[in-house]
Amino acid sequence: MSTLPRQSPQAYPIERIRADFPALRQQIRGKPLVYLDNAASAQKPKQVIDTLAEFYRHDFSNIHRSVHTLGERATARYEASRDTVRRFLNAAAVEEIVFVRGTTEAINLVAQSFGRSRFREGDEIVISAMEHHSNIVPWQMVCRQTGARLKVAPIDEDGALIVEEYQRLLGPRTKLVAIAHMSNALGTLNPAGELIDMAHARGIPVLLDGAQAAPHVKVDVQALDCDFYAFSGHKLYGPTGIGVLYGKRKLLEAMPPWQGGGEMIRTVTFERTEYNDLPYKFEAGTPAIAEAVGLGAAIEYIEGIGWETIAAHEHALIEYATARALEIPGLRIIGTAGEKGAILSFTLERIHPHDIGTFLDHYGIAVRAGHHCAMPVMDFFQVPATARASFGIYNTHEEVDQLMDAIREIIKVFG
Ligand code: PMP
Repeated sequence: MSTLPRQSPQAYPIERIRADFPALRQQIRGKPLVYLDNAASAQKPKQVIDTLAEFYRHDFSNIHRSVHTLGERATARYEASRDTVRRFLNAAAVEEIVFVRGTTEAINLVAQSFGRSRFREGDEIVISAMEHHSNIVPWQMVCRQTGARLKVAPIDEDGALIVEEYQRLLGPRTKLVAIAHMSNALGTLNPAGELIDMAHARGIPVLLDGAQAAPHVKVDVQALDCDFYAFSGHKLYGPTGIGVLYGKRKLLEAMPPWQGGGEMIRTVTFERTEYNDLPYKFEAGTPAIAEAVGLGAAIEYIEGIGWETIAAHEHALIEYATARALEIPGLRIIGTAGEKGAILSFTLERIHPHDIGTFLDHYGIAVRAGHHCAMPVMDFFQVPATARASFGIYNTHEEVDQLMDAIREIIKVFG
């Protein structure tokens, strides 16, 4: 049995946090829900749910275009949320915060606006071998449109980026680096600051895919000096349909809009259109107003717990889960990088990950089984899929024990 402590190091307010999440208070197949699919999407605290309901009850209206009171209230709350995001990322200005549907849309925006207008035949975009499809396919699309090429920095057997190989790929033709801050399939945390410095030394801008990192580590876009940062609200205990693209003002100003419509214009005639200022230039149409307000509430909620507290709790959980997993014969952990977040991807000998997922559901345990939208990672490790337990602020050491006990049961039944 693992000698690691069965609880988080400091007085972590686990009971209070769990009480904030109504969805956790339910039984699945007669067992208390153990929700370990946070990397796909996190559950929502009542503070977020109540904010959404209360916003719709009292303040809802379309924004920016109405002079009536509700229009003003809704606009003020939407823009206040933008400022909350700015503070959350430590961005220099609200003009650098563009509301989008999520990480996927943010990356597509950069590919179609920045990429399509700048990439030329023979230009190169550097990504890594651990990327989510959202940070591969938009670049392949813009490569097809412009004649640019994708270069892929390799990973090692632990699932860590081979930094020297990454550096060797950076050259005079590299026009952009787009890389995961944290991998969803492996949990690897990339040395973002170092990778950005290497790219900047050659004048290459860097986009960080922060879908996984933003809920777990303190992000400071000015300290990182990244040029673009993308994340999704729904993984951050916030609503679906809302996410953020941070971009340095100079870059965003020089980029053409990628969607045309209402809100992103200043004047329109049939002959020509003058575009709106930042960030509205990139927010065509009626945005996800309530969801943006809900995202603000989610950020305030996790900031209320505190980053160091969250990081210590999640670190203790993954250390404990890893140690306990290693005690199970036939269990292979996929993703063993030195720096990693609270994600445990694994396979079991002779048992397909989908069967693991289905079996665990009978114990009320929600994990994800599949390729995790990272098929090249599965190819690299020569597995069709993995089972993935991903932890969040409300998970406990007891839940890790329940997971491990259930895995031992699966092996007894199927192994
Ligand atoms: N990148 C990474 C690393 C992810 O984990 C995800 C979500 N699984 C995405 C991008 C895409 O995020 P979304 O589906 O919210 O747009």
